[in-house]
Amino acid sequence: MTLTPARSTVAYFSMEICLEQAIPTYSGGLGVLAGDTLRSAADLGVPLVAVTLLHRKGYFEQHLDPSGQQTEQPVHWSPEQVLEPVDAQSTILIEGREVHVRAWKYTVKGVRGHEVPVYLLDTMLPENSEWDRTLTDTLYGGDEHYRLCQEIVLGMGGAALLLSMGIDGETIYHLNEGHSALLTLQLLERQLDGRQHFELDDADLESVRQRCIFTTHTPVPAGHDKFPLDMVRHVLGDERVALLEGCGGVHEGMLNMTYLALHLTRFVNGVAMRHRDVSRGMFPGYPINSITNGVHAVTWTGPEFATLFDRRIPEWRRDNLYLRYAVGIPLQEIREAHAASKRVLLDEIARRTGQQLDPNVMTIGFARRATPYKRADLIFSDLDRLTQIARTVGKIQIVYGGKAHPHDGGGKDLIRRIHSARERLGDAVKVVYVENYEMAVAGQMVAGVDLWLNNPMKPLEASGTSGMKAALNGVPSFSVLDGWWVEGHVEGVTGWSIGGPDAEGDPSRDAVDLYIKLERVILPLFYGLPFAYAEVMRAAIALNGSFFNTQRMVRQYVHNAYFPSGVPADVVEATAVL
Ligand SMILES: *Cc1c(COP(=O)(O)O)cnc(C)c1O
Repeated sequence: MTLTPARSTVAYFSMEICLEQAIPTYSGGLGVLAGDTLRSAADLGVPLVAVTLLHRKGYFEQHLDPSGQQTEQPVHWSPEQVLEPVDAQSTILIEGREVHVRAWKYTVKGVRGHEVPVYLLDTMLPENSEWDRTLTDTLYGGDEHYRLCQEIVLGMGGAALLLSMGIDGETIYHLNEGHSALLTLQLLERQLDGRQHFELDDADLESVRQRCIFTTHTPVPAGHDKFPLDMVRHVLGDERVALLEGCGGVHEGMLNMTYLALHLTRFVNGVAMRHRDVSRGMFPGYPINSITNGVHAVTWTGPEFATLFDRRIPEWRRDNLYLRYAVGIPLQEIREAHAASKRVLLDEIARRTGQQLDPNVMTIGFARRATPYKRADLIFSDLDRLTQIARTVGKIQIVYGGKAHPHDGGGKDLIRRIHSARERLGDAVKVVYVENYEMAVAGQMVAGVDLWLNNPMKPLEASGTSGMKAALNGVPSFSVLDGWWVEGHVEGVTGWSIGGPDAEGDPSRDAVDLYIKLERVILPLFYGLPFAYAEVMRAAIALNGSFFNTQRMVRQYVHNAYFPSGVPADVVEATAVL
């Protein structure tokens, strides 16, 4: 079907976007969510363009020595080979220097052929100073000053580039996290149109606000960028700092990207109901909504389950709601598809690590960014207890993956502690740590384990998405009640909880709870009643796979955030299934 292009456009800005395995422009959950959002927008025919940075040196490639000591190497990739050059350029001012910004284009194609262009901004141009050329090299690299300059390239350079391509009039700007909030400064200056900063009035602010929406992604304070005003003044100049002060972007003497976004957007949301409540507590007085995250179902369903769904519920690719009918799939077919996914994972682990895991043993998966609040080593709190459960109730093996940010000492410690627990456990509980966790291996892990473990410190998990990927592959979650799991958890039906439902909880009890439930509920079910376990697997698909996907999520953004007073006619015309 050919669709008429829409005039109204959503411009989606994100510091990281996970486009495909060969393009290392993401670090974790935020980037994966951004990529999944674009894939679903393309499927649905939403008129959207995306802007991010090129990240020529990627995030990093992770290597672990036998003690779990992480070292990092730049990732080598050639944008020229996988992206199309774009003619348009923009120019921004950094410390009074003109910095030229070019872009590369990647096209996300939807199921019906609708295209979402992604512009990856690049400052590697001969006319830029040597230092400015490095501004689009590394994701979350460098110091505060480097980061501020990167955010200027993303927000201001990006908005200016879209304008130069004629994308402006009806555009709605979606700030995916605060990193791109400086785009509002561009819009304010356009609005002022030569008037002075002190002439800024409420109508100007309102006009910018009406065109912007903001998604906040974390309750962790370090995830909210702040920059000292002296630095901002040096980089952006007095005039612009005055403008930022005038519009509420300065908080406690710092340029605060979250406050800037809160003040200059008309719709703000957290990424799960619980995260909305936590964000309201952090930013009292701001109306914060919730749109719960999802994952792109076709991307994250492994080939084994995709084949099964194609046979039993072929409509699922076009409309993820059909996954609800997974309840009708015979349990034996669920078990077979899962056994095949498990073989693929165990073969891949053997190939990568030389360690052969046993396909008949309960395999627990834990993989995500290695950072202290995620508590990857919680299950090792009491090694004697764990060993005793494995010996008396049923064998356990554990598969880990995850990178620590190069400056995150606590995260690096965590990886070392997991390695040292592995040494001490020996053959009692086999543990493998898969290096360089990224998109492709993540897909195999979420599909190939028997249980997906998640035990962050509450209330710090805004949403979490890896458990949603697991659900699509019939892998139940075993998780603390935080983020999306507050909504997806039905005890004993879609998986199991660790700890109680309250927002804060008692973190010191979580390990005890984890052991008790593993010992008394999960392992006995897995080994003693395999078809009852398969029923939980099937319910995870039907109840959670059908809801926690980006197709539902993007529809919610369209109706609640982008076009709350009705989807414009040109968008309806261009859109396939809204
Ligand atoms: C899904 C995914 C994440 C996010 O995992 P969470 O459990 O939500 O933190 C991070 N990294 C990769 C490579 C992923 O695929």
